[in-house]
Amino acid sequence: MLKNRVSEEFGSLVFTDLVMQERLPKPTYKELSKVIHEGRALDLSIANEVAHAMKEWALEKGATHFTHWFQPLTGITSEKHDSFLTLKHDGTSLMTFSGKELIQGEPDASSFPSGGLRSTFEARGYTAWDPSSPVFIKDEVLCIPTAFISYTGEALDKKTPLLRSMVALDTQAKRVLALFGKKPVRVATMVGPEQEYFLIREEDYAARPDLILTGRTLFGCAPSKGQELEEHYFGAIRPTVNEFMKELDDELWKLGVPAKTKHNEAAPCQHELAPIYEEGSIAIDNNLLTMEKMRLLASRHGLVCLQHERPFEYVNGSGKHNNWSVAADSKNLLDPSDSPEENLQFLVFLTCVIAAVDDHADLLRASVASAGNDHRLGANEAPPAIISVFLGNDLSGIVKALIDGTTLCSANRATMDLGVPQLADITQDTTDRNRTSAFAFTGNKFEFRMCGSQQNLSDSNTVLNTAVAEQLDAFASALADVPAEKFVEQAMSWIKASLTEHERVIFDGNGYSEEWAAEAQKRGLPNYPTTPDALPCIVRPENIAFFAKYGVLNESEVRARYVSYAEQYSKLINIEANTMSYMVRHMYLPALIDYSKDIATGVATKLELGLKARAEKQLVERLTGGIDAIFDTVDALEKANAAAGTIVDPEQQNYAYRDEVLARMEHLRNLVDTMEQLCSHDFWPVPSYNKILFYI
Ligand code: ADP
Ligand code: MG
Repeated sequence: MLKNRVSEEFGSLVFTDLVMQERLPKPTYKELSKVIHEGRALDLSIANEVAHAMKEWALEKGATHFTHWFQPLTGITSEKHDSFLTLKHDGTSLMTFSGKELIQGEPDASSFPSGGLRSTFEARGYTAWDPSSPVFIKDEVLCIPTAFISYTGEALDKKTPLLRSMVALDTQAKRVLALFGKKPVRVATMVGPEQEYFLIREEDYAARPDLILTGRTLFGCAPSKGQELEEHYFGAIRPTVNEFMKELDDELWKLGVPAKTKHNEAAPCQHELAPIYEEGSIAIDNNLLTMEKMRLLASRHGLVCLQHERPFEYVNGSGKHNNWSVAADSKNLLDPSDSPEENLQFLVFLTCVIAAVDDHADLLRASVASAGNDHRLGANEAPPAIISVFLGNDLSGIVKALIDGTTLCSANRATMDLGVPQLADITQDTTDRNRTSAFAFTGNKFEFRMCGSQQNLSDSNTVLNTAVAEQLDAFASALADVPAEKFVEQAMSWIKASLTEHERVIFDGNGYSEEWAAEAQKRGLPNYPTTPDALPCIVRPENIAFFAKYGVLNESEVRARYVSYAEQYSKLINIEANTMSYMVRHMYLPALIDYSKDIATGVATKLELGLKARAEKQLVERLTGGIDAIFDTVDALEKANAAAGTIVDPEQQNYAYRDEVLARMEHLRNLVDTMEQLCSHDFWPVPSYNKILFYI
């Protein structure tokens, strides 16, 4: 068979199943496969053999180090490199890697956020190999994906609860499928994350302390044009960006990341990369790798990759759509088909997802809450902070008919057979692509659109998987003892009851409209506009009980997460406020003072000559007024920031940062941005939006 470059390079830096087969003795390979695919425990003698094969393979590929690669609560990935080097008694060297080093590591973890789970004197957590994610080589380092756990067994990372939630879903989905006479080996969630990002020039980035320190512009008046001409979306890709994207694809393919689609997004300088979907935890590992590669490779092209949810006001921010489905041995359970038995099963899973989203809308909302995403959600480009489910005309019609107990006419493709509607061809329904919904059914998967571009998708998927597991559990328990001849009828009535209860969450209209916010309130749907409103949902008693019931997070793990996320919010706003006062005091005020002095001197000279200098006088007056207002506001901001910093209770502190600090930051920004419109380019200390977004 003719091979091309891509298929030859794809996965060449991954310790794939094929490599394992080639390099491991047959019995060892078989044992390892069971560990990977069936979640069996790993024996140390097997681990030793696997570690040896991994090391030999890694050395051949030029690797010198290994690392346990994990995802602390910061959301990004962490690694500490150890070389394979060992010294023999005679001083000569040997390259070694043991099974113990493969399965367990002990990073000095005292500096990772734990939300109080682990005080520094008992700081040692450990990392444990996650054999379900493939090992790979990155920059000559053998990377072993791991979970990060405290010595008392609590999860200190994002991956552990995600894996636990996938187990919960697997267990409950199998109970449901057993009622349909099916016995799959494994039920797993599939995730395809669409990653949005900005690319700007390194020299512009380097001139903006706000971008460097916070990832977003804290100042900047509106550019002369925005994205209204819609010329960037899907437009031809600029050569520099194209070079970057090509290199990115190459690197990702070698790492086994199935990068598939790339294009320009709506805002100037904004782009998107979507991979082919994979099993949940692997897709998230690969998304994190993708984000890291984007940041690192951009610098080779004189560019900087911005992954913040809102680097620039006045144009779109960046999200990360979480495309999600459930598959039993690779067969998609959210794929409607035309046989009645399959349809019934599809309807059960569909109903469970709808009910899950309605019951746990608060946790889903909290899972995407962050200081960065607050600038995006509810703005006119991203879903509102209210969670609703979009089904499209066809499915909505069917759901309505199920609730009302009516039969739909065949034009709507929903004739009933055995009491089960005909669902063939729904996948082909492309007529309505609602982009304003938080949670949309798109043919054979759901798309959760609230996730922020820099977020780790583990939290959202953990909530979603557990919530769906809970509904599947309810169905399986309700139908467990129903005799075969009554199964269809009872299942349909369970579906009807559940859809009736959760109909309120279904909404096919415009999610951006003001009417929707009012309507959602009438329906009793929760609306948490900002992070401080949303985060406390995590520690509600019913939510603590929910995570505990499915073994996903225990109470102290849940509480620790809340504290850690609340702290993160306060810390980020504090850094932004500090950056603003730094820029105002050291850059903007000096520039404005210089400029106004320059004009004032001109005015004095003109007056001496008997000229009136009306415009210059007005300008210098406006500048002086602006300088005074900025001076007072930065004082007030610093005071408010200092006061918020002393509040001990995390919830109260979050509110103080939002209401006292963020509000003053906005006011300060407005004052400075107004001055930017008056000030000469020669004096203005940072590149403008016009330059950053359009002179590229
Ligand atoms: P868009 O929503 O922009 O039209 P696509 O339809 O191309 O995007 O799909 C976006 C993402 O959804 C891709 O990453 C794709 O792999 C993923 N995807 C497709 N089918 C599934 C599925 N069954 N489960 C999970 N993700 C999926
Ligand atoms: Mg999409």
